[in-house]
Amino acid sequence: MRGGRAIESTRASCLRFEPVAPMAGARKKVVILGGGIGGLSAAHELVRRGFDVEVYERKSIPGGKARSLAAARPSLVRSTFSVPETRASLVAPQGPSLPGEHGFRFFPGFYRHIIETMKEIPFGTAGTVADNLVDTGELRIAPSDRSSFDLPAVFPERPADLKVAVFAIVAELSGKVGVPLDDAVFFAAKIWQFLTTCEERRLVEYERTNWWDFIEADSRSPAYRMYFGNGITRSLVAAKARRASAKTIGSIFVQIVFDILLPGVAADRVLNGPTNEVWIDPWLSHLRAQGLVYHFDSDVRTIRCERGRVQSVTVAVRNTLREVTGDYFVAALPVERMAELISPELLAADPSLANLHALTEYVEWMIGIQYYLTVDVRVARGHVIHVDSPWALTSISQPQFWKNFDISKRGDGLVRGLISVDISDWDVAGSNGKEAQICSRNEIALETWAQLKKSMNFSDELLRDDQLHSWFLDPGLIDADADANRLTSRVDTNLEPLLVNYVDTWRLRPEAVTRIPNLFMASDYVRTFTDLATMEAANEAARRAVNGILNACGSREERCEIWNLHEPAVFAPFRAHDRTRYRKGLPWDGSEVALPMSALGLPATRALQQVVGRAWPGAIGAPRGANAAAMPGAREDNIEEAALEARASSDEGLRRLRIVSGR
Ligand SMILES: Cc1cc2nc3c(=O)[nH]c(=O)nc-3n(C[C@H](O)[C@H](O)[C@H](O)COP(=O)(O)OP(=O)(O)OC[C@H]3O[C@@H](n4cnc5c(N)ncnc54)[C@H](O)[C@@H]3O)c2cc1C
Repeated sequence: MRGGRAIESTRASCLRFEPVAPMAGARKKVVILGGGIGGLSAAHELVRRGFDVEVYERKSIPGGKARSLAAARPSLVRSTFSVPETRASLVAPQGPSLPGEHGFRFFPGFYRHIIETMKEIPFGTAGTVADNLVDTGELRIAPSDRSSFDLPAVFPERPADLKVAVFAIVAELSGKVGVPLDDAVFFAAKIWQFLTTCEERRLVEYERTNWWDFIEADSRSPAYRMYFGNGITRSLVAAKARRASAKTIGSIFVQIVFDILLPGVAADRVLNGPTNEVWIDPWLSHLRAQGLVYHFDSDVRTIRCERGRVQSVTVAVRNTLREVTGDYFVAALPVERMAELISPELLAADPSLANLHALTEYVEWMIGIQYYLTVDVRVARGHVIHVDSPWALTSISQPQFWKNFDISKRGDGLVRGLISVDISDWDVAGSNGKEAQICSRNEIALETWAQLKKSMNFSDELLRDDQLHSWFLDPGLIDADADANRLTSRVDTNLEPLLVNYVDTWRLRPEAVTRIPNLFMASDYVRTFTDLATMEAANEAARRAVNGILNACGSREERCEIWNLHEPAVFAPFRAHDRTRYRKGLPWDGSEVALPMSALGLPATRALQQVVGRAWPGAIGAPRGANAAAMPGAREDNIEEAALEARASSDEGLRRLRIVSGR
């Protein structure tokens, strides 16, 4: 079936397609370069609007960096974990392969574009792949020198718990992990500053300020730096606080905080099975059923541009070169690959594409490793941020969310548990004294496991070596120098780095619609509202590219919907006030910094002290500084009132939010 018009099925969220008449005039052909989330999303929007679409993908698996893949020969560890990978016997699979992944998938509550697309992909008899998303229950913060603690990943059940949740988060940070109370309040004030800053100032000033400076980390405590500086940036987006744009980190951070604090969807969702099995493969089948032609093993080598238009692309298909023509071309390639394809002719037609070369300086390594266990160790009911781990680890125990997927039927039948870990910092020495970037694959597996144990085993020994069955590290991590001795080889090349939004890089990033009338861009590094290299950004970029094509061919088809990041309306007047100031050349108005206290229900430091002091007697000393007195508007009666209120509701509320239970 080619083309299609969306019609409502009996399920509100499930859209089915029925054939429609081809577009007026000759059908237009769109060639998409790259079959990751950007390429698939563009194909999704185009086939349903009656275009002929072909995707050229260099790998033999769809999904790009979002893919899950068969861990066909994971390295066996069992009792001999210290044996290098090449000497260890490899698992002889009896059933289908164990599930591996490039990196685990996290769908924060603020995602909109990719979720809407998922709602249009049929799954099973009456559902969609969006039904395969499940809420996690909590986000665990796991430092290595004290017990872990959890933040709720769902909205509190009662309105009264909301304030308690905010108190509790700040109190938890203060009382349990040693962020001084005035630092916690100071950070809340910085977030208030961000929320009340207008978009123009964010784009110009905060885009050129790094996150570290924005939150004034140099002048605060080591714990403040670790949690609010490095912890937020390194663990969530593989960025480094001193280089990451305050605009990007601030925007995403507040989205996640609102996801936790506002009712609606959960802050953190995951898929209920391996990504390709429950999402990407059904998606590809769905698109193929509508006429999409998806070519695997097809490496795009050149983009031929003449007379200001793309004429064709040269594709190598198993050593045979093919010239592929089309009316429109969508580049959905990673930035470092796209930059290689920018020819003088393309540059002449759109000089701004030169920026892509500069942008390739801003990619970082972020790669997942999976540990298969003989027992299902549920370390947390959601993601875990190993906040001070040298290699910036985040992890998740997968099988608890994979209800219809029996991992024991995979591989040799001995696996019951799976901890999937993302390694986000490859430049800092681990406890083995080496940066991940100069380790062998086996050293990476050993050291990552050691770092995991250090942060998970503080109170109880949750992770043990004897639980280990095997591990799998993405084959895209290679020793390109082809060291003859594989036992000592170092991984020196990551074939798929990830763009990170560093300071002042917005100006280098392309629009989805280029100045070349038939070339469009649909990847995570394109300028989008999302503004963070994620599946959400790739999907939004694809929607923008498709709208560009629809405009270019004068189509009357409905345009793809695009949404801006939503911030609660209560902040709009403050942003309007700042916009007026910004346009007059005035700085952000710091005199209103007292308002975060009232807006968040944190009228003063002393109220917090009471909560902290009661939950963890002796946990805090006198707060540093004199924030309560310094805060304009933090009057004594407010303080007492808040303290009373907190005292009345916090114990039960905190317990119900699973915040004081600890482990
Ligand atoms: C470890 C890790 C974890 C992540 N976790 C999350 C997460 O939890 N949530 C989230 O939203 N985002 C996450 N991301 C980011 C997200 O995966 C990416 O931003 C997104 O998948 C990018 O999609 P894309 O289509 O723009 O690019 P890609 O996924 O890179 O797709 C590009 C495609 O082009 C193909 N290709 C490359 N060169 C050629 C060529 N010459 N010819 C033909 N084809 C070519 C590639 O094989 C690939 O399939 C993570 C990233 C990493 C690395």
